[in-house]
Amino acid sequence: VLKRTPLIAGNWKMNLDHLQSIAFVQKLAWSLEDAKHDFDSVEVAIFPPFTDLRSVQTLVAADKLSLAYGGQDVSAHDSGAYTGEISGQFLAQLDAKYVLIGHSERRTMHGESDEIVAAKVNAAIKHGLVPVICVGETAEDLEKHGQSAVPVAQLKVALEGLKADADVVVAYEPVWAIGSGQAATPEQAETVGAALRAVVAESLSADAAAATRILYGGSVKSGNIAGFMREPNVDGALVGGASLDIAEFAAIVRYQK
Ligand code: PEP
Repeated sequence: VLKRTPLIAGNWKMNLDHLQSIAFVQKLAWSLEDAKHDFDSVEVAIFPPFTDLRSVQTLVAADKLSLAYGGQDVSAHDSGAYTGEISGQFLAQLDAKYVLIGHSERRTMHGESDEIVAAKVNAAIKHGLVPVICVGETAEDLEKHGQSAVPVAQLKVALEGLKADADVVVAYEPVWAIGSGQAATPEQAETVGAALRAVVAESLSADAAAATRILYGGSVKSGNIAGFMREPNVDGALVGGASLDIAEFAAIVRYQK
């Protein structure tokens, strides 16, 4: 039986400048080291602002930290006249492993369509990054279409044309649960997680479906993480607000303790 290594990921959004990021990563690393955290049993990743990534790379390399990191977005293009955009190649050169794609804040505030998300997923894979594909329904979607329909439709477009063995992570983030303090229930996360895994099986392959981590995101805290992690189709969490508090994030990472 293939075992999926759980992934706990922190999305910093537009918080912590490059100096703050150094202090934060050092303290987080000490905290996890003190607790003898086993990074092979629960992987940890952070998503700092672009301007922090060079500092984070330097610190992770110098201290040989087992901390993965990535960008919060990536351009669909490789290079050229795209003012303000960041190429996947640049992220890969900074040893980024992951990249968030299609976060609900990008979809709503920056007009990212499912097609743009799909183009970015392709760009990420082309540059050797693992896309963390964010999907989720709004409160209105939930009322109109139920819980799974919108995330399932979003994921189908995002995976179109990928190879059967593509390495992706899926983050199910109900928009109504993000930053609201009102998390989904573990049962809701499981229901949608199972539906999303079926999409991976159909769009990529059964092997990819067995290997793909499906994260839950939306008001995850140290007090509710264990309930989510007990579900067979929840393989980790994407954490926003709580990822900015070192003790709280470390407690989420150590949900098994
Ligand atoms: C997010 O924005 O990815 C998120 C899950 O935020 P929060 O944990 O603050 O709800």
